[in-house]
Amino acid sequence: MNDTFSIAIDGPAGAGKSTMAKALAKALDAMYLDTGAMYRAFGLAMLRQGVDIHDHDAVAAKADAVNIDVNYVDGGQHIYLDGDDVTGAIRSPEVSEAASAISAVAEVRTRMVALQRQIAAGHDVVMDGRDIGTAVLPNATLKVYLTASAEERARRRCVELEEKGMPQPYEQVLADMKERDYRDMNREASPLRAAEDAVTLDTSELNLEQSIQALLKLAAGAGIAG
Ligand code: C5P
Repeated sequence: MNDTFSIAIDGPAGAGKSTMAKALAKALDAMYLDTGAMYRAFGLAMLRQGVDIHDHDAVAAKADAVNIDVNYVDGGQHIYLDGDDVTGAIRSPEVSEAASAISAVAEVRTRMVALQRQIAAGHDVVMDGRDIGTAVLPNATLKVYLTASAEERARRRCVELEEKGMPQPYEQVLADMKERDYRDMNREASPLRAAEDAVTLDTSELNLEQSIQALLKLAAGAGIAG
């Protein structure tokens, strides 16, 4: 018998996955795991160690050697690299680029998937990423593929970067986002796609509150109650 529930939220960059997964986890009193933060931490480790992020073999050789931990402080996820809290450091555009590159390496994905399953084991969990419904939690209670137009996602990402004190021109953000989407969707190892049994939710025309309500309705439909 399975007492816990799991919700997989996948989708392209800037679709609002982390904001919504976080809100959903809070409403349902579940653990929230932002798996992108783990790929970002791995990417940051490569930058700090001077490993060429585009050298597949060099990155693969490090797959099991990077120390990544996740902890929760006042309900917020913190991520650690060799014990160093890198929660803020992983949000720079340079780290976004590194995370996107290293996430194509199968050895890195194998390690991250194992870590993610280990962290979530035994908990009610809402996990967001690119391969949660297809690879990490194939038996998730509910799978959602969250998306929005590239333009809307770039607009939202600009606001987020501005709020974090790292403003970037819209055109640049849009171009970077399209490049990352392309890479995520076309890599060999676990490409980004909706799981066959996922429900697609397009939030281009929805505000945050409406999106969360739509997710809560899907959760209730899957037998998950807050
Ligand atoms: O979601 P976020 O933008 O923080 O993720 C950073 C990068 O990590 C993404 O561009 C994607 O390439 C990769 N990623 C992944 N699989 C996941 C989560 C993130 O490949 N489950």
